[in-house]
Amino acid sequence: MKQLYINGAWLDGASSSANINPSNTNDVIGHYALADAQQTELAIAAAAAAAPGWALSNIQLRADALDKIGNEILARREELGTLLSREEGKTKPEGIGEVVRAGNIFKFYAAECLRLRGDKLPSVRPNLDVEVTREPVGVVGIIAPWNFPIAIPSWKIAPALAYGNCVVMKPAELVPASTWALTEIISRAGLPPGVFNLVMGHGSVVGQALLNDRRVNAISFTGSVATGKKVAIAAMGRLAKVQIEMGGKNPLIVLDDADLATAVYCAVQGSYFSTGQRCTASSRLIVGKNIYPRFVAAVKEELAKLNVGDALTAGTDIGPVVDANQLEQDMNYIRIGKDEGATLAFGGERLDGPTPGFYLRPALLTDASNDMRISREEIFGPVASVIPADSYEHALALANDTEFGLSSGIVTTSLKHATHFKRHAQAGMVMVNVPTAGVDYHVPFGGTKASSYGSREQGSYAAEFFTTVKTAYCGV
Ligand code: NAD
Repeated sequence: MKQLYINGAWLDGASSSANINPSNTNDVIGHYALADAQQTELAIAAAAAAAPGWALSNIQLRADALDKIGNEILARREELGTLLSREEGKTKPEGIGEVVRAGNIFKFYAAECLRLRGDKLPSVRPNLDVEVTREPVGVVGIIAPWNFPIAIPSWKIAPALAYGNCVVMKPAELVPASTWALTEIISRAGLPPGVFNLVMGHGSVVGQALLNDRRVNAISFTGSVATGKKVAIAAMGRLAKVQIEMGGKNPLIVLDDADLATAVYCAVQGSYFSTGQRCTASSRLIVGKNIYPRFVAAVKEELAKLNVGDALTAGTDIGPVVDANQLEQDMNYIRIGKDEGATLAFGGERLDGPTPGFYLRPALLTDASNDMRISREEIFGPVASVIPADSYEHALALANDTEFGLSSGIVTTSLKHATHFKRHAQAGMVMVNVPTAGVDYHVPFGGTKASSYGSREQGSYAAEFFTTVKTAYCGV
């Protein structure tokens, strides 16, 4: 049984759940403790008690701890990447890539500890100095989704600790193993008890307890729009700081002047890798009408080459869908797309593997329109729709016609259109001739409209959320 980590000690949960491998449902990865509301409160109390000391802790101590965590994650990339793929279903190379990202994030924030700047300014009044400094927020509650089980916890935990906050971490129910392994590493990094706590459990129990407790000063959430809205309302109801990263319906425009190979690479990589279970996945392919037939034929040819199978088997390109519910949702949207009049041009059928798993052949729905449900609602699987566009202006209007605004891409050889697109795409991240998914770890990540609420994550911009600004006046 993998336990909870509260106040520097490992504790049993109120109950437990089995962590199942989506590539092989006969494979139980382990049993993981589930906390109840009282245990969550214990973790919050521990974090609150540790917060004043940690806020004033030496920055070299913080930097050394984060660097140590980052080094161990990187050194164990193969083992942790395998564990991640086994519980989430992305392929092993993708799992290892995610682990490397997590390690690099910790090392980035180790250095950020040493770059905590303030401002000292002359006053507009005589005989006065003004200082502006950043201080920790206090206790941060972190609520994570299942699709990046180590990277998302890392890009919230590392800045929280670097800027002097204490953490109560709640991973998604489906994927506790990666965050548990990360916690085990953090537990040996020399942090005082209570600075970091892990409470695995259900959103309605652990998540809700974090939202309700006044000792939790800030909530950093990533997940669906439906849950995000609840989190925002609960946090704002008691004036807690809140940061919410949610879904996407990311467009990839392919203009008639695009290099076809680049367009196909961006479409297939962005739409289908990691089983399409990325908030930045391109699920709307908006394609110029002249290149449309060649593009669709070439994408189908590429899709036919992809191996769908066990995430841990060498040569697998696309792993399984994460669980039965998500598979049902994906298949349901494929049915909806066909009923709405789109053509299922490739895939979309459930596949049998050598082991019982949630395998789905990547689906391409052509002749779609932007007002179909498959083009408006986040599916979160290996499913993309192709929407024809008459011109660049038409394509841009379609790309922006969505409730979401996370990542928006274009494939073009036109400098004029690329430049215009960077300025006018309504998204937090804009991609030119690269897939909509796949980002650096040292720059901000986040979106506009219903994709994000609150200040940006990652890079030095994370300071905005994980610190609060103090202005001090001093007579001289
Ligand atoms: P989800 O909203 O179902 O769950 C997210 C987390 O919220 C889980 O830990 C869950 O236990 C918790 N939760 C559920 N109900 C809660 C409640 N009432 N109170 C507090 N917490 C609660 O999302 P998911 O299915 O785990 O993740 C998939 C979603 O995440 C997709 O929409 C995807 O686009 C989004 N996502 C966004 C980003 C981003 O940075 N924008 C990154 C990855 C995933």
